[in-house]
Amino acid sequence: MVKINGKTKLAGLLGYPIEHTKSPLMHNSAYDLLGLDYAYVPLGVSPDGLADAIAGVKAFGFVGVNVTIPHKETVIPLLDDLSKEAALIGAVNTIRNEEGRLVGYNTDGAGFVSDIEEKFSFSLKGKSMLVLGAGGAARAISVSSLLKGISSLMIVDVDQDKAGALIKYLKKHFMAQLSYTSPESKQMYAYIQKDLDVLVNATPVGMHPHEEDIPILNLEAIAKNVKIYDVIYNPLKTKLVKTMETKGNPCSGGLGMLAGQGAVAFELFTGVPIETSKMLSFIA
Ligand code: NAP
Repeated sequence: MVKINGKTKLAGLLGYPIEHTKSPLMHNSAYDLLGLDYAYVPLGVSPDGLADAIAGVKAFGFVGVNVTIPHKETVIPLLDDLSKEAALIGAVNTIRNEEGRLVGYNTDGAGFVSDIEEKFSFSLKGKSMLVLGAGGAARAISVSSLLKGISSLMIVDVDQDKAGALIKYLKKHFMAQLSYTSPESKQMYAYIQKDLDVLVNATPVGMHPHEEDIPILNLEAIAKNVKIYDVIYNPLKTKLVKTMETKGNPCSGGLGMLAGQGAVAFELFTGVPIETSKMLSFIA
């Protein structure tokens, strides 16, 4: 148990609503394990209180805070600086207090990268990836994977304008082979069958209570060596993951991405590294 005293350093999570978060459990368990004098608190802040809350982070001398829905984008103008990754993603999920200057980071994509590389013992560098979805999760995963050196990326979304806009944006910043298409298209299946390394579901398809839904129909088209990563963690194993596991593919649900973003944020706040698998053990 964390024992708060006069010297305890504070971190927390700004979001709304916040009741169901796993972050305090994850961070406080890690402080406990490593004997660090920190405490991590939930900070329920509605949109009209965000500016005051950010001023409070400075005034109370928090070492940093995580940021979740609905503040990830609206918090940006309230900060003093942004990391390269957060600027590219256009969203912040971690703020570090750097001697009174609040700097925004995005550890969601880095959490995905550290989890998938640690779990499957491989490097994303030079790999090809297909991402289903073009929303916030897909954007963070795409940017961080491109920064890690993937050589090609296809984005698949029902909303073609959204997928096209994301690819157009990424083309301005990265040299990799970048394309987009619609779900179930010929182009999508051609890409899957041409030496695909990683398939990511970054849509909410398959999430509770729609656990029977699956975001891609012809699973037979996916070769056995393709790694499957579903960002959903409720349920822990989606129908996509369960089915592909049975076929023998290396598969992962999204809880490790949550743990991974927590591990990167933990190090930003404390300066102490921690393995993603350790963070995962606190919330699994
Ligand atoms: P989002 O902004 O709503 O984006 C999802 C995108 O997927 C939307 O553009 C949606 O299009 C599209 N889509 C829906 N069905 C599709 C299909 N069958 N094929 C292709 N595209 C489809 O959501 P998000 O914030 O990115 O979150 C996506 C998922 O990631 C959620 O389940 C969330 O819980 C999870 N997540 C997990 C973590 C983690 O740490 N593991 C972190 C962040 C998010 P429409 O808008 O037209 O429906």
